[in-house]
Amino acid sequence: MAIRSLRYNDDEILRKRCRPVDEVTDRIRDLLNDMAETMYAENGAGLAACQVGILKRLVTIDMGDGLLKLVNPEIVEAHGEQACVEACLSFPGRVGQTVRPQCVTVRARNEKGEEVFYTGEGNLAKCFCHELDHLDGIVLPDRVTAWLSGGKA
Ligand code: ZN
Repeated sequence: MAIRSLRYNDDEILRKRCRPVDEVTDRIRDLLNDMAETMYAENGAGLAACQVGILKRLVTIDMGDGLLKLVNPEIVEAHGEQACVEACLSFPGRVGQTVRPQCVTVRARNEKGEEVFYTGEGNLAKCFCHELDHLDGIVLPDRVTAWLSGGKA
């Protein structure tokens, strides 16, 4: 495993769409492990592959209830609405208010290539939405309705 370098702020790779993963190979599993290690090293709760410069639809999340490794995740259901306070490892020092669904269900493949479903409420729903946004090149400043800190970049 290895810690990867993060991409920040105006790095154009953060604005690109990530490509689906055809097959969950050892190389993909290694990458997911590196992403998890990088996420923990940076004290993050979630990381998308584009944040370490790789345009693949891969996400790691750990909101304190265990590590999730998601391949080709997509939101298949969303309900309700919540006001969130959100930050991003790629936009250090910036914190803003966003509005996200209260509850989302995500379909993905796990590191064995099996189809999995996760339903998250509250902070986990926020995290799913934030990380899946990254896969489509959508970043925190696109979602923020009001900055709480670091607004003027
Ligand atoms: Zn982020």
